[in-house]
Amino acid sequence: MTNPHAAPLAGKTALVTGGSRGIGRAIALRLAADGAQVAINYRSDAAAAESAVAEIVAAGGSAFALRADVSELAAIEAMFAAFDAKAGGLDILVNNAGIGSMATLGETDEASFDRQMQVNAKGPFFVTRAALPRLRDGGRVINISSMVAQVGYASCLAYAMSKAALNHFTVSLAGELGARGITVNAVAPGATITDFAPDLFNDPAMVETLAGLAALRRVGQPEDVARVVAMLAGPDAGWVTGQVIEASGGMHL
Ligand code: NAD
Repeated sequence: MTNPHAAPLAGKTALVTGGSRGIGRAIALRLAADGAQVAINYRSDAAAAESAVAEIVAAGGSAFALRADVSELAAIEAMFAAFDAKAGGLDILVNNAGIGSMATLGETDEASFDRQMQVNAKGPFFVTRAALPRLRDGGRVINISSMVAQVGYASCLAYAMSKAALNHFTVSLAGELGARGITVNAVAPGATITDFAPDLFNDPAMVETLAGLAALRRVGQPEDVARVVAMLAGPDAGWVTGQVIEASGGMHL
């Protein structure tokens, strides 16, 4: 008897934005390991994207890389034209690309505010809009938010606002797409060790402090978040929609 849990995403195609490194790369690798063909979007580091593709292919999976700055509409359109040439349709969209600045209200200038909104809120909005004609009924949209959007976080205010916008996008879009059997959820990581915030994550004392804020007494790894995304992408999560699921090891409990 075959085991359906061995490759729960067999026959599915996924697109992961910002998939060349960090959490996005872990998501791409995990969805590929679960059987999906994975399109890996990247902004500028083609070599990193190609190495993620090569890692997936070496493990017996299927993947290809797509360049686009997700904050630019023309680049998004060009990305989907390239996607169409390689894939027949889309089942799982993961809006993962994001940037953040550790800055208070007084420390944030207009350019930094605009850039965080452009990448973290405008990006998922227009990537999803362009994806919709390709997204098959029964599909998944999974937005990578942040736990800081759900509590007061004055130390990264513009970033938290941009992710709060993404949370609203998640809930409202779930209502619209439910009629097609498409679920829309967000995963909200806590502190996760990547290149996202080198000033924080390269400081062992800071990492220890962050670990102490989590009920599970450690910081997250990209794979911790990828596992939750895989759960939402899989067939068993088809009844979950419009949710923001924190994956932080229980920060601030
Ligand atoms: P990272 O900086 O390693 O990865 C972010 C990725 O997004 C990079 O590959 C980057 O090139 C890409 N990207 C940035 N701007 C882009 C653009 N305009 N177009 C296309 N790609 C772009 O950081 P990460 O920790 O892996 O972050 C992934 C997601 O997780 C982000 O949305 C981030 O906000 C979120 N997040 C991270 C943490 C954390 O502690 N690391 C916590 C909460 C949420």
